[in-house]
Amino acid sequence: PLKGKTAVITGSNSGIGLGIARELAKSGANVVLNSYTNTDEDHAIAAEITKDSGFEARYIQADLSNGEQARALIEQAGQCDILINNAGIQHVAPIDEFPVGKWDAIIAIMLSSVFHTTAAALPMMRKAGWGRVINISSAHGLTASPYKSAYVAAKHGVVGMTKVVALETAREPITANAICPGYVMTPLVESQIPDTMEKYGMDRETVIKDVMLERQPSKEFATTEQLGGVATFLCSDAATQITGTTISVDGGWTAL
Ligand code: NAD
Repeated sequence: PLKGKTAVITGSNSGIGLGIARELAKSGANVVLNSYTNTDEDHAIAAEITKDSGFEARYIQADLSNGEQARALIEQAGQCDILINNAGIQHVAPIDEFPVGKWDAIIAIMLSSVFHTTAAALPMMRKAGWGRVINISSAHGLTASPYKSAYVAAKHGVVGMTKVVALETAREPITANAICPGYVMTPLVESQIPDTMEKYGMDRETVIKDVMLERQPSKEFATTEQLGGVATFLCSDAATQITGTTISVDGGWTAL
């Protein structure tokens, strides 16, 4: 169903972005993968998707902490019918100890880049007469946790930005929505386990069950395949009137 469409997925050489790229390619989209690195492995991931799906997958390097590079990513892709803003990092510290550089990087990569890629992609979508903007926010775009000030602020900001994009495109065949995952087991989450173990003096299993999945009533991680499925749904005809909203994929977190 997505044949002939091109999807640009930011931060997609691992985790959720890669899962979404794989699912969109399965539905026939050409995909553009991205991260700030430029390794053989990055290009090999694209080649593997092309081999598995039969559709074109390319890898384009762009450091999304830089607004010009974020815009250049879209220009270089040449076509962008589906924009998935997914790149993200995390840093955990109390506000008064939060490193200024980390704050700036998180806001640049996770919030400002969404402004830049969207600004570059909308004219392409308008020209093509169809478009989907899908922002990967978080349960932390709707609720907060201590020590994650920059992340929570950026993710709430992404939800606000999504609403504005939806209103500015409301009369056009373009929609903008945010997906708000709870915990998904990816390298980003994995990297938080050692710090959390140390902070609470807990072992790995206890951190996973009692800290990470504490707020996820299902007590299960969401999968990258499931998030790819939700993104694919937002690209379907059934989702034409879904715009300016959030879809939680959080095992009940935000129902609590
Ligand atoms: P991940 O670390 O596997 O993926 C993050 C991606 O962003 C990687 O491809 C990384 O290379 C890329 N990236 C980081 N800095 C970048 C930069 N400066 N320029 C370009 N790319 C950059 O983590 P993930 O869990 O797959 O996270 C993907 C998104 O999902 C993030 O926005 C994250 O906040 C969000 N999210 C994750 C979870 C979860 O539980 N994993 C939950 C809610 C939301």
